[in-house]
Amino acid sequence: MKTYRIAAIPGDGIGGEVISAGVEVLEALAARDGGFSFAFDHFDWGGEYYKQHGRMMPEDGRDRIRGHDAILFGSAGHPEIPDHITLWGLRLAICQPFDQYANVRPTRILPGIVSPLRNVTDKELDWVIVRENSEGEYAGVGGRVHQGSELEAATDVSMFTRKGVARIIRFAFELARSRPRKLLTVVTKSNAQRHAMVMWDEIAREVAEEFPDVTWDKMLVDAMTMRMVNRPETIDTVVATNLHADILSDLAAALAGSLGIAPTANLNPERDYPSMFEPIHGSAFDITGQGIANPVGTFWSSVMMLEHLGEPVAGARLMQAVERVTADPRFHTPDLGGKATTAEVTAAVIEAIRSAND
Ligand code: ATP
Repeated sequence: MKTYRIAAIPGDGIGGEVISAGVEVLEALAARDGGFSFAFDHFDWGGEYYKQHGRMMPEDGRDRIRGHDAILFGSAGHPEIPDHITLWGLRLAICQPFDQYANVRPTRILPGIVSPLRNVTDKELDWVIVRENSEGEYAGVGGRVHQGSELEAATDVSMFTRKGVARIIRFAFELARSRPRKLLTVVTKSNAQRHAMVMWDEIAREVAEEFPDVTWDKMLVDAMTMRMVNRPETIDTVVATNLHADILSDLAAALAGSLGIAPTANLNPERDYPSMFEPIHGSAFDITGQGIANPVGTFWSSVMMLEHLGEPVAGARLMQAVERVTADPRFHTPDLGGKATTAEVTAAVIEAIRSAND
């Protein structure tokens, strides 16, 4: 029997609550399947670790998780520590050296969930946003001088390489090809940003020639926000830069009903390093410890992890269980307008896994 070694990094805030829910559900799924099992290693890295050790993860942290089959991540962020330290010290400190350059964010309106868009159905909003995850606006290039004086100056330089752009666009075309509609929208801002974004457009045109069976179009990011709201049915797969896709995918998550539902995968498609799966939401300290965090984003991320591990049947079983549960308003957490707790939703998903008769 295959045993998958998973590094669980709950991080901060509600991260702990949703990751332990995810672990419970994955264990139940493995027990139901019988063909594989999980061995979880838990790492207490994050804001509290930082307060004790002055860093978000140990110096050899990456070496400790390099050999795992996948990483299940909660959230990094702490009210007493600046966000750029928590982000760069943990999440980006894993994503970048592990070359998880493809950040994949599916959006769909799950059964029982109401979109803030009027009359939109689950058929009309079924997207995957591919976010470039290794360079661009978040490359970390820049500096700050003369801090605190009148002469203070700061730069954040977007850095795009031909290799980095070509590989993410190729990845997005391949993903679009694997979906029924075979439709890709390449998002840039090549009117105002006249160097790197123009290069994106050129590379998109070149790569598109390898995919004659995929229909594609390009769109400026500002216009894309309107299209997402006004004509959601015209969108299927989307590829955009680190910053643009970061913003578009939060909009997508809100349009699908709640930030608490949305999943994401940070993939190293070549599998030289483990890939990382996490809910899209942050630490949500306003509800931490209340037991009401929505665990669905973590469950859906776990589905993506199962697909990546080569267990699509188990992944589909988990997704079906999640959809059976979201369809029942008794299992909606407060972010969805309900009264259910994290534990109740988790128990309902486990029950749906056990009682599935496939
Ligand atoms: P960070 O700075 O780490 O991104 P944040 O608290 O600023 O964290 P999010 O955690 O992304 O931002 O959440 C924004 C709001 O959405 C929170 O205040 C919270 O109430 C709600 N929220 C986010 N995730 C969930 C969830 N899983 N379940 C319920 N509510 C959630």
